[in-house]
Amino acid sequence: MNFRSQLILFAISFPTAALFVLAFGMPWWFLLLPIGFLLFHLVMGAIYIQRNFFIVSQNSLNTPEKKICLTFDDGIHPSWTPKVLDILLQFHIPAVFFIIGKNIPGNELILERMVNEGHEVGNHSHDHSFWFDLKSSAAMGVEMRDTNQKIEAIIGRPCTLFRPPYGVTNPNLAKAVHQSGMRSIGWSLRSMDTVAKDAGSLLQKLKSETKPGAIVLLHDRCQITTEVLTDYIEHCLSEGYTFVSLTE
Ligand SMILES: [Zn+2]
Repeated sequence: MNFRSQLILFAISFPTAALFVLAFGMPWWFLLLPIGFLLFHLVMGAIYIQRNFFIVSQNSLNTPEKKICLTFDDGIHPSWTPKVLDILLQFHIPAVFFIIGKNIPGNELILERMVNEGHEVGNHSHDHSFWFDLKSSAAMGVEMRDTNQKIEAIIGRPCTLFRPPYGVTNPNLAKAVHQSGMRSIGWSLRSMDTVAKDAGSLLQKLKSETKPGAIVLLHDRCQITTEVLTDYIEHCLSEGYTFVSLTE
C-alpha cells in the first residue's frame, strides 16, 4: 500500500472510528487506532525504501537468473574507492557508484576512471547531510542538480540514477526525484558494512543473503568493504553468479 492509498484509508477509518466513539459509546482511545496505523505505515514507508511507499524505486534486478548488481555509496573516497576499482578491474566486473557531489572536487581522475572502466555513476545528493530528509523538495532538487552538473562535466553524459541518502524517502523527496527525471534506486541486500566490526561476519552476511537479482548495497568509503570484496566476488563467481550494471 502506498502513501496515497494509506491517506485514503485514514480518511475513511478515522471518521468511522469517531462515529463509533460518539454514537455507539466506544472509549475515546478507539480514535488512536487509525492514527497509530497511519503513523506506523508512514514511518515504515520512510525508512524502508523497498516498500515503495512514497516513491517507486528499483530495489532488485527482477530476474530469477543468477545475476547481481554491486552498488557502492558515499564515495568518492581518495583511498578506498581506487582500491575497490582495482578489485573490480581484476575480475572485469561492472558496478554502480552513487557519489556524493561534494566529494568530487579533487577526485575527478577517480570519477573518470570509473567511467573508463565501464562502471555506472549515480547521484547520492550533494552533501549527504543528516538533515537531508527535512529539506524542501526545492532544496533537494538543488542538491541533485549541483551533483549532476559536477558528474556530467566529467563523464560527458546525463546522470539518470539517484539513490536517496540513507534510503529514506518522503513526499518531498518523491517530488524532487520526479521533477529531476531521474530513477530512484534502492537495494535488496544491505550489507551494513558501515557498522561492521569484523570482516569475517561481514563476508558471511553477504554470502548468506545473496540471491538471484540482488542489488547489493556497499560503501566505497569503508576500508572493511575493500577487505572482503575479493572473497565475496570469488564466492559469487564460484556459485555461478554474474555481475551486471543497472542499465543492462
Ligand atoms: Zn549514503
